Amino acid sequence: MKGPSYSATELLARLVSFDTTSHKSNMALVRFVEDYLAQRGVASQLVVNAEGSKANLFATIGPASVSGVALSGHTDVVPVDGQNWTSDPFVLAERDGRLYGRGTADMKGFLACALAAVPDFQRRQLKVPIHIAFSYDEEIGCLGVRPMISEFGKSLIKPRVVIVGEPTSMSVVDAHKGPVRWHVEIEGRAAHTSMAHLGANAITAAGSLLQELRLLEKELMVAPRNERFDPPYATLQVVRINGGTATNIVPASCSVDFDLRALPGVDTNTIDQRVHTFITRECLPELQHVAPEACINIAIANQVPPFAADANSEAVALALNLAGQNETYAVSYATEAGLFQDAGSPSVVIGPGDIAQAHTADEWIAKDQIEKCSRFLSRLADWAENNSN
Ligand SMILES: [Zn+2]
Repeated sequence: MKGPSYSATELLARLVSFDTTSHKSNMALVRFVEDYLAQRGVASQLVVNAEGSKANLFATIGPASVSGVALSGHTDVVPVDGQNWTSDPFVLAERDGRLYGRGTADMKGFLACALAAVPDFQRRQLKVPIHIAFSYDEEIGCLGVRPMISEFGKSLIKPRVVIVGEPTSMSVVDAHKGPVRWHVEIEGRAAHTSMAHLGANAITAAGSLLQELRLLEKELMVAPRNERFDPPYATLQVVRINGGTATNIVPASCSVDFDLRALPGVDTNTIDQRVHTFITRECLPELQHVAPEACINIAIANQVPPFAADANSEAVALALNLAGQNETYAVSYATEAGLFQDAGSPSVVIGPGDIAQAHTADEWIAKDQIEKCSRFLSRLADWAENNSN
């Protein structure tokens, strides 16, 4: 086909050079991928956000009208602010068999392997097509992929299988936890601290809520448990608190954020209801006793569904087969797999690099992980060429 071939490492260097920190545009990277594919005769479909500043990219190699295997990855990376890097995070640097740069492990390494495999995919007579499905804003709550998934079955063909290439050191992951993040705003009434009986202390109300959340955290440590996960229970943490204005004022406002990492099967609605009920029955009456205008607002700020593949998942069976493994793993970090799975595309998580390096200063990926992933994709092409159903 047309266009020069690039190694996965060369492509990784290009991808790393685009600063796609989540709060920035990913369009330069998307245009690069679009051009790379166009040079090989592969058309891209973009799902652009309302501002035109970010896009998902979807492309198909092989028969366009057939549902195939999607190689899914996010294009955004976490910030480098406040991190102490040995070399420029946006210039790929090779040292001792490792490739350093922001996003090398999470997860431009996988994107590079997928793109480098395109000429190989094209040389084959694929019976099952291979889709490229690159998203944005994954690192801020799997937000960007959702409008792309909404197009499945409409402007985009719904994948038969989705391989999410988050860093698993090329192990097959068939389950992960799902984060839910709540934001609570407490409004009491300010007063001079010498006249405290005239005030409704928002921080004190937050304190009651914190105690209840601690109780809930301890309950979740006991049940339900699933020993496949580390830790083997849902975790709940208060992660941020803001309140008070001065040391001589009864604080009128306080906000609390808390984060739940739910195991698959945990009913997060029940937890949501319980916190709502506690606020209505315990926190609010105390405030309103003095300040009838007091109020507490609680809302879910972000939620990513947990992921659990079906017992007879085609995606898991395929990944195990291609990886030459017979064991699957569960992880505690979230990915887009739960969203794909819930939308009806059987999903699995397997990708190069170690999650331990994700988000860190001097993030790196081992070169042999890139090679392992490339071999995995080559076997995927073998399968897609010979698969008849
Ligand atoms: Zn990631």
